[in-house]
Amino acid sequence: MAQDMYRSHNCGELRMDHVGQEVTLSGWTQVSRDFGGLTFLDLRDRYGITQLVFNMEDDADLCSQARKFGREDVIRITGKVRERSNKNPHRPTGEIEIEVTSLDLLNKSKVPPFTIEDDTDGGDDLRMKYRYLDIRRNAIKQNLIFRSKLAIETRKYLDQQGFIEVETPVLIKSTPEGARDFIVPSRMNPGQAYALPQSPQTFKQILMIAGMDKYFQIVKCFRDEDLRADRQPEFTQIDCEMSFVTRDEILETFEGLTRSLFKTLCNVDLPQFPRMSYDEALSRYGSDKPDTRFDMQFVELNEQTLGYGFGVFDNAELVVGICAKGQADQYSNKDIKNLTSWLQRPQIGAKGLVYVKYGNDGSIKSSVGKFYSDEQLNEWGKAFDAAPGDMLLILSGEQDKTRKQLSELRLEMGQRMGLIDPNVFNPLWVVDFPLLEWDEESERFHAMHHPFTAPKKEDEARMLTGDHETMKSLRADAYDLVINGVEIGGGSIRIHDRDLQSRNFDLLGFSKEEAEEQFGFLLGAFEYGAPPHGGIAFGFDRLCAVMNGVNSIRDFIAFPKNNQGRDMMIDSPSVISEEQLEELHLKSTYTPDTSA
Ligand code: ASP
Repeated sequence: MAQDMYRSHNCGELRMDHVGQEVTLSGWTQVSRDFGGLTFLDLRDRYGITQLVFNMEDDADLCSQARKFGREDVIRITGKVRERSNKNPHRPTGEIEIEVTSLDLLNKSKVPPFTIEDDTDGGDDLRMKYRYLDIRRNAIKQNLIFRSKLAIETRKYLDQQGFIEVETPVLIKSTPEGARDFIVPSRMNPGQAYALPQSPQTFKQILMIAGMDKYFQIVKCFRDEDLRADRQPEFTQIDCEMSFVTRDEILETFEGLTRSLFKTLCNVDLPQFPRMSYDEALSRYGSDKPDTRFDMQFVELNEQTLGYGFGVFDNAELVVGICAKGQADQYSNKDIKNLTSWLQRPQIGAKGLVYVKYGNDGSIKSSVGKFYSDEQLNEWGKAFDAAPGDMLLILSGEQDKTRKQLSELRLEMGQRMGLIDPNVFNPLWVVDFPLLEWDEESERFHAMHHPFTAPKKEDEARMLTGDHETMKSLRADAYDLVINGVEIGGGSIRIHDRDLQSRNFDLLGFSKEEAEEQFGFLLGAFEYGAPPHGGIAFGFDRLCAVMNGVNSIRDFIAFPKNNQGRDMMIDSPSVISEEQLEELHLKSTYTPDTSA
């Protein structure tokens, strides 16, 4: 064996077959334990942990050297593989240990700021600051390995389906996906800036016009939005586009991709993906990304409740409830009060909660018993298929808000009642989204998906000629893939006709000049034989998280940012120097030359 060799094997590799062999291993010291004349040391690398043993009697020097190691020192050892007397069935290398004969300290480590084990004592910011130590932990390391495999399997699958991966530029001009752009000032073009892509949307459409037919890219996107556990300012998409396709062909293609990824990576056979219209999702679950792992569907009660003197219901645009099975006896008045306060928090903002409890003894108790007879309350129960022991929870008010609030309550009740199985994956296509959304505040239409999304074929004529009210009822050929209540992907059939695209910009409040200035390149390209096309993008980080049954995407990103959008490790963003400001023409004394 060469003298300078760092390792003959890795720390996850040795088994009973290797007993008797001399091996060299390198790695990080994890824990050492002294038992009288014996010292045990766990040596760790990416592949696993191997137990080293030092015997005071055999080599006192070596043994006392080993006892001095702290956590995370980098060492190289040579020794003989032997069978362990006390085997560890939880570790792949648990049947053997190495009787060490020589030892080198390759690099000393300071005491790490948190323990590098599966259960760490490190808080979020500390773990982010020392991300290189955090990544040494199994949990994060496994996530990154999973992510790598997911990317590779995605590429394999799409390659087999004839997709071509094309890189699109990062320094571009605004692509509206509904968020703010990150801006990169241009040194060579005073007063001008690039925008980082919110997605490669316009480029992938241009690639269709360029005849690429089937494009994909695993690509970074940038959106300057407020952050949440499932959001990062830079994130990754599996971005795809196809030409000469119908919506259903797109859904089938990407259902295929999703199913194959779940099979290969999680050994899960996903069921056929059901499809549900946006309207149906909202009326049944109050959400366009319903968690369909459990039922508890909405039932509307406007008809049954109107006209009995209960003003709250009488004046409400919507009276709607859910049935919590078997919960009547579980909820005391105090529990209901607490649940009501939970609903009244500003994050949810419900005004109040009405309950009806159908007791196992046939009794009926309700917060609105004064206004409605038992007979009427029984009628409501029938609408929910309620049985003795069940409890109705009813909200009322303005339609959209009330649905959203009840959707939160449904999820909360689902959690509390243990109805959400973390080992089940329930995919769903939500289709037929509205094309445009009217925003009261800005008095403008916004594109519900993005401005390049086509209306459904049957709505095209109405879009070109209809009045303001008509626009609110247009449906888009857009779809989202939802798994377990998480939006995993979304896409649409695109507009490929210049006039229709111009009309859409018009409806979205762009003047002719603005549309030309921002998207002239795309409108121009539409005049050179744009094929019918459509596509989708998957949130890659989210897909990783959902496939592993967790909410936060952070631990699937090697170097994520915190809630303030900071990279704690490199301490970014940071102040830039006067010289840089000057070079970039950003000094406050600078006034852009507008005469050009
Ligand atoms: N560009 C869209 C997005 O980022 C996806 C698509 O329409 O393909 O959400």
